[in-house]
Amino acid sequence: MTDGPQLGFDTLQIHAGAEPDPATGARQVPIYQTTAYVFRDADHAAKLFNLEEVGYIYSRLTNPTVAALQTRIAALEGGAGAVCCSSGHAAQIMALFPLMGPGRNVVASSRLYGGTITQFSQTIKRFGWSAKFVDFDDHAAVAAAIDDDTRAVFCEAIANPGGHISDLDAISAISDAAGIPLIVDNTTATPYLCNPIAHGATLVVHSTTKYLTGNGTVTGGCVVDSGKFDWTANDKFPSLSQPEPAYHGLTFAEALGPMAFTFHSIAIGLRDLGMTMNPQAAHYTLMGIETLSLRMDRHVENAQKLAQWLDDDPRVDYVTYAGLPASPYADLVPKICPKGAGALFTIAVKGGYDACVKLVDSLEIFSHVANLGDTRSLIIHSASTTHRQLTPEQQEAAGAGPSIVRLSIGIEDAKDLIADLDQALTKATS
Ligand SMILES: *Cc1c(COP(=O)(O)O)cnc(C)c1O
Repeated sequence: MTDGPQLGFDTLQIHAGAEPDPATGARQVPIYQTTAYVFRDADHAAKLFNLEEVGYIYSRLTNPTVAALQTRIAALEGGAGAVCCSSGHAAQIMALFPLMGPGRNVVASSRLYGGTITQFSQTIKRFGWSAKFVDFDDHAAVAAAIDDDTRAVFCEAIANPGGHISDLDAISAISDAAGIPLIVDNTTATPYLCNPIAHGATLVVHSTTKYLTGNGTVTGGCVVDSGKFDWTANDKFPSLSQPEPAYHGLTFAEALGPMAFTFHSIAIGLRDLGMTMNPQAAHYTLMGIETLSLRMDRHVENAQKLAQWLDDDPRVDYVTYAGLPASPYADLVPKICPKGAGALFTIAVKGGYDACVKLVDSLEIFSHVANLGDTRSLIIHSASTTHRQLTPEQQEAAGAGPSIVRLSIGIEDAKDLIADLDQALTKATS
Protein backbone atom coordinates (compact mmCIF):
# COMPACT_ATOMS: atom_id res chain seq x y z
CA MET A 1 0.00 0.00 0.00
CA THR A 2 1.23 3.49 -0.76
CA ASP A 3 0.80 5.95 2.09
CA GLY A 4 0.23 9.14 0.17
CA PRO A 5 -1.87 12.23 0.49
CA GLN A 6 -4.17 10.76 -2.16
CA LEU A 7 -5.61 8.36 0.44
CA GLY A 8 -8.34 9.66 2.72
CA PHE A 9 -8.09 10.07 6.48
CA ASP A 10 -10.36 7.09 7.22
CA THR A 11 -8.16 4.83 5.09
CA LEU A 12 -4.89 6.11 6.53
CA GLN A 13 -6.02 5.73 10.16
CA ILE A 14 -6.40 1.98 9.49
CA HIS A 15 -3.69 1.22 6.93
CA ALA A 16 -0.80 3.70 7.18
CA GLY A 17 2.33 1.99 8.51
CA ALA A 18 0.74 -1.47 8.61
CA GLU A 19 1.83 -3.83 5.88
CA PRO A 20 1.07 -7.51 6.47
CA ASP A 21 3.88 -8.85 8.67
CA PRO A 22 6.71 -9.87 6.29
CA ALA A 23 7.64 -12.92 8.38
CA THR A 24 4.19 -14.42 9.05
CA GLY A 25 1.61 -12.56 6.96
CA ALA A 26 -0.12 -11.47 10.17
CA ARG A 27 -2.71 -8.88 9.11
CA GLN A 28 -2.70 -6.97 12.40
CA VAL A 29 0.56 -5.30 13.47
CA PRO A 30 2.29 -7.82 15.78
CA ILE A 31 3.58 -6.70 19.18
CA TYR A 32 7.32 -7.08 18.60
CA GLN A 33 8.17 -7.87 22.20
CA THR A 34 11.92 -7.82 21.76
CA THR A 35 14.75 -5.72 23.07
CA ALA A 36 17.26 -6.32 20.27
CA TYR A 37 17.51 -7.41 16.62
CA VAL A 38 20.14 -9.74 15.16
CA PHE A 39 22.51 -8.05 12.70
CA ARG A 40 22.98 -9.86 9.36
CA ASP A 41 26.73 -9.42 9.78
CA ALA A 42 29.25 -6.92 11.19
CA ASP A 43 29.03 -4.76 8.06
CA HIS A 44 25.23 -4.51 8.41
CA ALA A 45 25.67 -3.48 12.05
CA ALA A 46 28.16 -0.75 11.09
CA LYS A 47 25.81 0.62 8.42
CA LEU A 48 22.92 0.77 10.89
CA PHE A 49 24.99 2.65 13.45
CA ASN A 50 26.18 5.09 10.74
CA LEU A 51 22.53 5.73 9.69
CA GLU A 52 23.57 4.59 6.19
CA GLU A 53 20.88 1.94 6.28
CA VAL A 54 17.60 2.14 8.20
CA GLY A 55 16.88 -0.84 10.43
CA TYR A 56 16.39 -2.04 13.95
CA ILE A 57 19.16 -2.08 16.54
CA TYR A 58 17.74 -1.85 20.04
CA SER A 59 14.23 -1.04 21.26
CA ARG A 60 15.23 2.08 23.19
CA LEU A 61 15.74 3.55 19.69
CA THR A 62 13.30 1.80 17.39
CA ASN A 63 10.83 -1.08 17.43
CA PRO A 64 8.61 -2.31 14.54
CA THR A 65 5.32 -1.97 16.47
CA VAL A 66 6.22 1.55 17.56
CA ALA A 67 7.43 2.32 14.01
CA ALA A 68 4.02 1.36 12.58
CA LEU A 69 2.37 3.86 14.92
CA GLN A 70 4.94 6.54 14.07
CA THR A 71 4.29 6.11 10.35
CA ARG A 72 0.54 6.22 10.92
CA ILE A 73 0.54 9.41 13.01
CA ALA A 74 2.96 11.10 10.55
CA ALA A 75 0.58 10.20 7.70
CA LEU A 76 -2.48 11.54 9.55
CA GLU A 77 -0.68 14.80 10.38
CA GLY A 78 0.85 15.17 6.90
CA GLY A 79 4.38 15.10 8.36
CA ALA A 80 7.67 13.75 7.00
CA GLY A 81 8.38 11.65 10.10
CA ALA A 82 7.36 11.04 13.69
CA VAL A 83 8.89 9.74 16.89
CA CYS A 84 6.78 8.17 19.60
CA CYS A 85 7.76 8.42 23.24
CA SER A 86 6.58 7.44 26.68
CA SER A 87 4.08 10.24 27.36
CA GLY A 88 2.87 13.58 26.11
CA HIS A 89 5.19 15.32 28.51
CA ALA A 90 8.11 13.30 27.16
CA ALA A 91 7.08 14.39 23.64
CA GLN A 92 7.31 18.04 24.65
CA ILE A 93 10.86 17.62 25.96
CA MET A 94 11.76 15.59 22.86
CA ALA A 95 10.40 18.36 20.60
CA LEU A 96 12.40 21.08 22.36
CA PHE A 97 15.58 19.05 22.87
CA PRO A 98 17.19 19.42 19.39
CA LEU A 99 16.34 23.14 19.33
CA MET A 100 17.25 24.40 22.78
CA GLY A 101 20.38 24.87 24.86
CA PRO A 102 21.38 26.68 28.03
CA GLY A 103 20.14 30.29 27.94
CA ARG A 104 17.58 29.62 25.20
CA ASN A 105 13.85 30.16 25.62
CA VAL A 106 10.50 29.11 24.17
CA VAL A 107 7.63 31.58 23.79
CA ALA A 108 4.56 29.69 25.01
CA SER A 109 0.86 30.35 25.29
CA SER A 110 -0.42 31.17 28.78
CA ARG A 111 -3.40 28.97 27.91
CA LEU A 112 -1.70 25.56 28.06
CA TYR A 113 -2.48 22.35 29.90
CA GLY A 114 -1.54 22.99 33.57
CA GLY A 115 1.05 20.21 33.58
CA THR A 116 2.80 21.85 30.63
CA ILE A 117 2.84 25.21 32.38
CA THR A 118 4.55 23.56 35.36
CA GLN A 119 7.00 21.68 33.10
CA PHE A 120 7.86 24.87 31.19
CA SER A 121 7.90 27.32 34.10
CA GLN A 122 9.80 25.11 36.58
CA THR A 123 11.38 21.88 35.38
CA ILE A 124 13.02 23.00 32.13
CA LYS A 125 14.96 25.62 34.12
CA ARG A 126 17.14 22.74 35.30
CA PHE A 127 18.36 22.37 31.69
CA GLY A 128 19.07 26.11 31.52
CA TRP A 129 16.00 26.58 29.28
CA SER A 130 13.17 28.97 30.03
CA ALA A 131 9.68 29.83 28.82
CA LYS A 132 7.98 33.19 28.34
CA PHE A 133 4.21 32.93 28.68
CA VAL A 134 2.09 35.21 26.52
CA ASP A 135 -1.62 35.53 25.68
CA PHE A 136 -1.63 34.02 22.17
CA ASP A 137 -4.79 35.94 21.21
CA ASP A 138 -2.53 39.01 21.34
CA HIS A 139 -0.38 38.44 18.25
CA ALA A 140 1.65 41.60 18.78
CA ALA A 141 2.60 40.34 22.24
CA VAL A 142 3.74 37.00 20.78
CA ALA A 143 5.97 38.79 18.26
CA ALA A 144 7.32 41.13 20.96
CA ALA A 145 8.20 38.24 23.28
CA ILE A 146 10.52 36.62 20.70
CA ASP A 147 14.16 37.59 21.29
CA ASP A 148 17.57 36.46 19.98
CA ASP A 149 17.55 33.47 22.34
CA THR A 150 14.08 32.22 21.40
CA ARG A 151 14.23 28.86 19.66
CA ALA A 152 10.54 27.92 19.39
CA VAL A 153 6.97 29.14 19.73
CA PHE A 154 4.57 26.73 21.46
CA CYS A 155 0.78 26.58 21.71
CA GLU A 156 -2.15 24.15 21.73
CA ALA A 157 -4.46 24.04 18.68
CA ILE A 158 -7.50 23.65 20.95
CA ALA A 159 -6.43 24.54 24.47
CA ASN A 160 -6.86 22.27 27.48
CA PRO A 161 -8.96 23.01 29.55
CA GLY A 162 -10.97 25.86 28.00
CA GLY A 163 -11.22 24.65 24.39
CA HIS A 164 -9.93 28.04 23.18
CA ILE A 165 -8.61 27.94 19.60
CA SER A 166 -5.24 29.33 18.49
CA ASP A 167 -5.07 31.21 15.19
CA LEU A 168 -2.28 29.00 13.85
CA ASP A 169 -1.98 30.89 10.53
CA ALA A 170 -1.28 34.18 12.31
CA ILE A 171 1.08 32.58 14.85
CA SER A 172 3.08 30.61 12.27
CA ALA A 173 3.53 33.83 10.25
CA ILE A 174 5.16 35.34 13.36
CA SER A 175 7.46 32.36 14.01
CA ASP A 176 8.37 32.18 10.30
CA ALA A 177 9.36 35.85 10.28
CA ALA A 178 11.62 35.16 13.28
CA GLY A 179 13.19 32.09 11.62
CA ILE A 180 12.08 29.71 14.39
CA PRO A 181 9.68 26.76 14.38
CA LEU A 182 6.11 26.74 15.67
CA ILE A 183 5.36 23.69 17.83
CA VAL A 184 1.66 22.85 18.18
CA ASP A 185 0.27 20.52 20.81
CA ASN A 186 -2.57 18.89 18.84
CA THR A 187 -3.71 16.55 21.63
CA THR A 188 -7.21 17.91 22.14
CA ALA A 189 -7.95 18.57 18.46
CA THR A 190 -6.37 15.42 16.95
CA PRO A 191 -5.31 15.39 13.26
CA TYR A 192 -8.94 14.64 12.34
CA LEU A 193 -10.13 18.05 13.52
CA CYS A 194 -7.00 20.13 12.92
CA ASN A 195 -3.90 19.89 10.71
CA PRO A 196 -1.35 22.23 12.28
CA ILE A 197 1.22 21.55 9.54
CA ALA A 198 -1.23 22.84 6.90
CA HIS A 199 -1.42 26.02 9.00
CA GLY A 200 2.36 26.48 9.10
CA ALA A 201 3.45 24.46 12.15
CA THR A 202 6.87 22.78 11.95
CA LEU A 203 6.41 20.29 14.79
CA VAL A 204 3.24 18.73 16.17
CA VAL A 205 3.25 17.07 19.57
CA HIS A 206 0.66 14.70 21.00
CA SER A 207 -0.27 13.07 24.21
CA THR A 208 -1.38 9.81 22.53
CA THR A 209 -2.76 8.95 25.97
CA LYS A 210 -5.87 10.90 25.01
CA TYR A 211 -8.01 10.71 21.82
CA LEU A 212 -5.48 8.88 19.62
CA THR A 213 -5.66 5.85 21.92
CA GLY A 214 -9.15 6.85 22.96
CA ASN A 215 -9.87 4.18 25.52
CA GLY A 216 -7.94 5.27 28.59
CA THR A 217 -5.48 2.36 28.62
CA VAL A 218 -1.92 3.63 28.05
CA THR A 219 0.20 6.77 28.28
CA GLY A 220 2.21 7.80 25.25
CA GLY A 221 3.39 10.74 23.21
CA CYS A 222 4.49 11.62 19.72
CA VAL A 223 6.48 14.34 17.93
CA VAL A 224 5.69 14.82 14.24
CA ASP A 225 8.02 16.86 12.03
CA SER A 226 6.70 18.58 8.90
CA GLY A 227 10.10 18.10 7.22
CA LYS A 228 9.69 21.61 5.78
CA PHE A 229 11.78 23.77 8.12
CA ASP A 230 15.20 24.82 6.81
CA TRP A 231 17.45 24.27 9.84
CA THR A 232 20.40 25.74 7.93
CA ALA A 233 18.73 29.10 7.10
CA ASN A 234 20.28 30.70 10.21
CA ASP A 235 22.76 29.69 12.90
CA LYS A 236 20.14 29.09 15.60
CA PHE A 237 19.97 25.28 15.36
CA PRO A 238 23.59 24.03 15.37
CA SER A 239 22.64 20.54 16.60
CA LEU A 240 20.80 20.04 13.30
CA SER A 241 22.76 22.30 10.93
CA GLN A 242 26.37 21.77 12.14
CA PRO A 243 28.49 18.63 12.76
CA GLU A 244 27.00 17.12 15.95
CA PRO A 245 29.70 15.84 18.33
CA ALA A 246 27.07 13.68 20.09
CA TYR A 247 26.79 11.63 16.87
CA HIS A 248 30.41 11.39 15.66
CA GLY A 249 30.23 14.70 13.82
CA LEU A 250 27.21 13.91 11.60
CA THR A 251 25.50 16.99 10.14
CA PHE A 252 21.86 15.88 10.39
CA ALA A 253 20.34 18.52 8.06
CA GLU A 254 22.84 17.72 5.30
CA ALA A 255 22.80 13.94 5.68
CA LEU A 256 19.06 13.41 6.23
CA GLY A 257 17.22 16.36 4.63
CA PRO A 258 13.54 16.40 5.59
CA MET A 259 14.12 13.51 8.02
CA ALA A 260 16.86 15.38 9.95
CA PHE A 261 14.73 16.23 12.98
CA THR A 262 13.19 12.75 13.18
CA PHE A 263 16.56 10.97 12.97
CA HIS A 264 18.10 13.37 15.48
CA SER A 265 15.23 12.58 17.85
CA ILE A 266 15.91 8.86 17.58
CA ALA A 267 19.70 8.79 17.29
CA ILE A 268 20.34 11.32 20.07
CA GLY A 269 17.00 12.09 21.78
CA LEU A 270 15.79 8.56 22.46
CA ARG A 271 19.34 7.22 22.75
CA ASP A 272 20.32 9.61 25.55
CA LEU A 273 17.04 10.67 27.15
CA GLY A 274 15.48 7.20 26.90
CA MET A 275 11.82 8.36 26.89
CA THR A 276 10.85 5.40 24.72
CA MET A 277 7.35 4.13 23.98
CA ASN A 278 7.06 0.40 24.61
CA PRO A 279 5.52 -1.90 21.97
CA GLN A 280 2.52 -2.83 24.17
CA ALA A 281 1.56 0.83 24.44
CA ALA A 282 2.00 1.26 20.67
CA HIS A 283 -0.33 -1.73 20.16
CA TYR A 284 -3.14 -0.23 22.25
CA THR A 285 -2.78 3.09 20.46
CA LEU A 286 -2.77 1.40 17.04
CA MET A 287 -6.04 -0.31 18.03
CA GLY A 288 -7.59 2.96 19.13
CA ILE A 289 -6.45 5.11 16.25
CA GLU A 290 -8.27 2.90 13.70
CA THR A 291 -11.59 4.45 14.80
CA LEU A 292 -10.36 8.00 15.46
CA SER A 293 -12.53 9.79 12.88
CA LEU A 294 -15.69 7.91 13.92
CA ARG A 295 -15.11 8.69 17.56
CA MET A 296 -14.24 12.34 16.95
CA ASP A 297 -17.42 12.93 14.95
CA ARG A 298 -19.47 11.55 17.85
CA HIS A 299 -17.39 13.41 20.48
CA VAL A 300 -18.04 16.68 18.64
CA GLU A 301 -21.76 15.97 18.11
CA ASN A 302 -22.24 15.22 21.82
CA ALA A 303 -20.09 18.16 22.94
CA GLN A 304 -22.13 20.52 20.79
CA LYS A 305 -25.41 19.25 22.34
CA LEU A 306 -24.15 19.33 25.92
CA ALA A 307 -22.50 22.73 25.61
CA GLN A 308 -25.71 24.20 24.23
CA TRP A 309 -27.79 22.62 27.01
CA LEU A 310 -25.38 23.85 29.71
CA ASP A 311 -25.23 27.32 28.17
CA ASP A 312 -29.03 27.58 28.45
CA ASP A 313 -29.03 26.36 32.09
CA PRO A 314 -29.42 29.02 34.81
CA ARG A 315 -27.24 27.01 37.24
CA VAL A 316 -24.25 27.57 34.94
CA ASP A 317 -22.60 31.00 34.62
CA TYR A 318 -20.86 30.37 31.32
CA VAL A 319 -19.56 27.67 28.96
CA THR A 320 -16.26 28.10 27.09
CA TYR A 321 -16.99 25.78 24.13
CA ALA A 322 -15.77 27.37 20.89
CA GLY A 323 -18.57 25.57 19.02
CA LEU A 324 -21.16 27.89 20.60
CA PRO A 325 -22.12 30.71 18.22
CA ALA A 326 -21.44 33.39 20.87
CA SER A 327 -17.90 32.15 21.62
CA PRO A 328 -15.15 34.68 20.83
CA TYR A 329 -13.40 31.76 19.08
CA ALA A 330 -16.41 30.77 16.92
CA ASP A 331 -14.93 32.53 13.86
CA LEU A 332 -11.76 30.41 14.09
CA VAL A 333 -13.63 27.09 13.98
CA PRO A 334 -14.24 26.97 10.19
CA LYS A 335 -10.63 27.99 9.54
CA ILE A 336 -8.63 25.97 12.12
CA CYS A 337 -10.87 22.98 12.96
CA PRO A 338 -13.62 22.84 10.32
CA LYS A 339 -15.00 19.47 11.49
CA GLY A 340 -15.71 20.84 14.96
CA ALA A 341 -14.30 22.49 18.05
CA GLY A 342 -13.44 19.26 19.86
CA ALA A 343 -15.12 17.86 22.95
CA LEU A 344 -13.28 19.56 25.79
CA PHE A 345 -14.51 22.71 27.51
CA THR A 346 -15.07 24.24 30.90
CA ILE A 347 -18.14 25.54 32.66
CA ALA A 348 -18.38 28.01 35.50
CA VAL A 349 -20.82 26.70 38.11
CA LYS A 350 -22.86 29.08 40.23
CA GLY A 351 -21.86 28.48 43.83
CA GLY A 352 -18.09 28.43 43.25
CA TYR A 353 -15.57 25.95 44.66
CA ASP A 354 -18.03 24.13 46.97
CA ALA A 355 -20.64 23.64 44.25
CA CYS A 356 -17.95 22.28 41.88
CA VAL A 357 -16.78 19.75 44.45
CA LYS A 358 -20.38 18.64 45.05
CA LEU A 359 -21.01 18.40 41.31
CA VAL A 360 -18.08 16.07 40.62
CA ASP A 361 -19.06 13.91 43.61
CA SER A 362 -22.72 13.64 42.48
CA LEU A 363 -22.24 12.54 38.87
CA GLU A 364 -22.89 8.89 38.03
CA ILE A 365 -21.98 8.44 34.35
CA PHE A 366 -19.22 11.07 34.22
CA SER A 367 -16.05 9.89 36.00
CA HIS A 368 -14.02 12.25 38.14
CA VAL A 369 -10.54 11.62 36.73
CA ALA A 370 -7.41 13.47 35.61
CA ASN A 371 -7.69 12.42 31.98
CA LEU A 372 -9.45 13.43 28.78
CA GLY A 373 -10.19 12.03 25.36
CA ASP A 374 -11.63 8.73 26.58
CA THR A 375 -14.78 7.18 25.05
CA ARG A 376 -16.22 7.74 28.57
CA SER A 377 -17.32 11.19 29.67
CA LEU A 378 -14.95 12.64 32.22
CA ILE A 379 -14.97 15.62 34.55
CA ILE A 380 -12.40 17.29 36.71
CA HIS A 381 -12.27 20.27 39.01
CA SER A 382 -8.96 21.67 37.75
CA ALA A 383 -8.33 24.12 40.61
CA SER A 384 -8.25 21.33 43.21
CA THR A 385 -6.35 18.83 41.00
CA THR A 386 -4.40 19.33 37.73
CA HIS A 387 -3.95 23.08 38.19
CA ARG A 388 -3.35 22.92 41.95
CA GLN A 389 0.39 23.72 41.62
CA LEU A 390 -0.35 26.97 39.80
CA THR A 391 -0.73 30.41 41.38
CA PRO A 392 -4.26 31.91 41.41
CA GLU A 393 -3.15 34.23 38.57
CA GLN A 394 -1.86 31.29 36.50
CA GLN A 395 -5.11 29.38 37.22
CA GLU A 396 -7.20 32.29 35.92
CA ALA A 397 -4.94 32.73 32.86
CA ALA A 398 -5.24 29.02 32.10
CA GLY A 399 -9.05 29.14 32.43
CA ALA A 400 -9.03 26.98 35.57
CA GLY A 401 -10.31 29.18 38.39
CA PRO A 402 -12.04 27.82 41.54
CA SER A 403 -15.63 27.87 40.15
CA ILE A 404 -14.66 26.05 36.96
CA VAL A 405 -14.90 22.38 36.04
CA ARG A 406 -13.55 20.79 32.86
CA LEU A 407 -15.68 18.36 30.89
CA SER A 408 -14.36 15.82 28.38
CA ILE A 409 -17.46 14.71 26.54
CA GLY A 410 -17.53 11.00 25.63
CA ILE A 411 -19.41 9.07 22.99
CA GLU A 412 -22.30 7.77 25.13
CA ASP A 413 -25.95 8.75 24.42
CA ALA A 414 -26.17 12.52 24.75
CA LYS A 415 -29.54 12.31 26.54
CA ASP A 416 -28.02 10.17 29.31
CA LEU A 417 -25.14 12.60 29.76
CA ILE A 418 -27.56 15.54 29.99
CA ALA A 419 -29.71 13.70 32.56
CA ASP A 420 -26.60 12.93 34.63
CA LEU A 421 -25.45 16.56 34.61
CA ASP A 422 -28.99 17.72 35.39
CA GLN A 423 -29.33 15.63 38.56
CA ALA A 424 -25.78 16.49 39.73
CA LEU A 425 -26.23 20.24 39.13
CA THR A 426 -29.43 20.11 41.19
CA LYS A 427 -27.55 18.52 44.11
CA ALA A 428 -24.59 20.92 43.69
CA THR A 429 -26.55 24.15 43.58
CA SER A 430 -29.57 23.51 45.85
C1 LIG B 1 -2.42 15.24 28.85
C2 LIG B 1 -1.81 16.32 28.06
C3 LIG B 1 -0.42 16.46 27.96
C4 LIG B 1 0.53 15.54 28.70
O1 LIG B 1 0.42 14.24 28.21
P1 LIG B 1 0.76 12.95 29.11
O2 LIG B 1 0.56 11.83 28.16
O3 LIG B 1 -0.19 12.97 30.26
O4 LIG B 1 2.18 13.12 29.55
C5 LIG B 1 0.08 17.47 27.19
N1 LIG B 1 -0.73 18.33 26.54
C6 LIG B 1 -2.07 18.23 26.61
C7 LIG B 1 -2.91 19.20 25.86
C8 LIG B 1 -2.66 17.24 27.37
O5 LIG B 1 -3.99 17.15 27.45
